[in-house]
Amino acid sequence: MKYEFWLVVGSQFLYGNEVLETVDRRSSEIAARLSEVLPYKVVYKVTAKTNREVTDTVREANYRPECAGIITWCHTFSPSKMWIDGLRDLNKPWCHLATQYNVEIPNEEIDMDFMNLNQAAHGDREHGFIGARLRKPRKVIAGHWTDARVHKRLGDWMKSAVGAAVSRDMKVMRFGDNMREVAVTEGDKVEAQIKLGWQVNTWAVGDLVAEMDKVTEAQIDELVETYKASYDIATDNIEAIRYQAKEEIAIRNMMDREGCKAFSNTFQDLYGMEQLPGLASQHLMAQGYGYGGEGDWKVSALTAIMKAMGEGGNGSSAFMEDYTYHLVEGQEYSLGAHMLEVCPSLAAGRPRIETHHLGIGMNAKDPARLVFEGKEGDGIVASLIDMGGRLRLIVQDIRCVKPIMPMPNLPVARVMWRAMPDLLTGVECWITAGGAHHTVLSYDVTAEMMRDWANIMDIEFVHISKDTTPERLEDELLVKDLVWKLK
Ligand code: MN
Repeated sequence: MKYEFWLVVGSQFLYGNEVLETVDRRSSEIAARLSEVLPYKVVYKVTAKTNREVTDTVREANYRPECAGIITWCHTFSPSKMWIDGLRDLNKPWCHLATQYNVEIPNEEIDMDFMNLNQAAHGDREHGFIGARLRKPRKVIAGHWTDARVHKRLGDWMKSAVGAAVSRDMKVMRFGDNMREVAVTEGDKVEAQIKLGWQVNTWAVGDLVAEMDKVTEAQIDELVETYKASYDIATDNIEAIRYQAKEEIAIRNMMDREGCKAFSNTFQDLYGMEQLPGLASQHLMAQGYGYGGEGDWKVSALTAIMKAMGEGGNGSSAFMEDYTYHLVEGQEYSLGAHMLEVCPSLAAGRPRIETHHLGIGMNAKDPARLVFEGKEGDGIVASLIDMGGRLRLIVQDIRCVKPIMPMPNLPVARVMWRAMPDLLTGVECWITAGGAHHTVLSYDVTAEMMRDWANIMDIEFVHISKDTTPERLEDELLVKDLVWKLK
């Protein structure tokens, strides 16, 4: 889907045609300029002067799948009663861009004509009131429309809005149920569909095995060539790589046929398969599909959504699991990995394909997997949990480092990071909030983007940052528990 955003400008008839023509011309200019610098196109739709113009535009925005959200702005004063019906019906993300055409107040030229034409400062306040009065989720961004800081924030909001569109269209293919007895990977699939739009359904592992049997040697040859172009082959066990290619082709065929963008499986249910998909799941994630291990459909769908919210619509985001800590004072780090399945979009260098024995689960043969170190840089980890009656999204800021030791016998991809505000306080906060061991780790989706996404989806959001203390977090969780029971 080629997404776009609609610019809807507020005004009224009071100022006469000349002013309205100027507003219309400037709005076109602003949309054209923003389209050049933002990740998605901005289409100027209308300078609305009546209730009917607002409602007609909103209804069309709701109906058009390519419209991922609306951006409103009041160049002049736009009385807000005429916006009530439209905004009440709006079901697309909404950003209120509080900007104005000029940067400076023109000292010599300013007169009452100028004031009448350029009055966003009070037009946008009237517009803000009705958003607040309607309790409508919206993003408010203030600043000049040529300012790079505005472009960054508006661009990030657009990506969150696209994440909402991807979420509402999300279908997850499950092979097998959740890992036995695990609590945090469970959840209310009906609630997830109502709130987030996710269609989560199951397919038999036997269906996947039958699909694998249809994969031809020529198809496998072609995919192995693709692997060779992206990864170094560091094993003599070519058969294991070919087996992963067969798994990947079969999983992808089944997902594409059903329109699924994410899948989950479990090492406890691999009947008829020789290897847990490792390289197969990793290379599918590299192509933008979501994945969750141990039947974790929540993290799988969130991985696909956060990938779509990232750079170029398939960013550096991946299914991740906190494994073990380095607790030396002054050198405290988390080591994240998974049994096999870490997306190579996190890799600092060129990943290697290796084969190793895997003791957990039913693996008749050693599975092939990509092994690499994660990049240095700022990032986040995100976890979606079911609190019973509502979903809570927890996001923690992290700083990823080059792993401080080579760990030559660790047969999986690894990422090392320090959680904010520091590792131990960060762990205390994460555990207090109920965050899972499974997360989506991202280098290019920010906490603010996830907050905006959670607001659009109307779910609880908890952010653990450099400023978080366990005491304040406990108070925040207590208040949110009450608020979300009332909502
Ligand atoms: Mn796991």
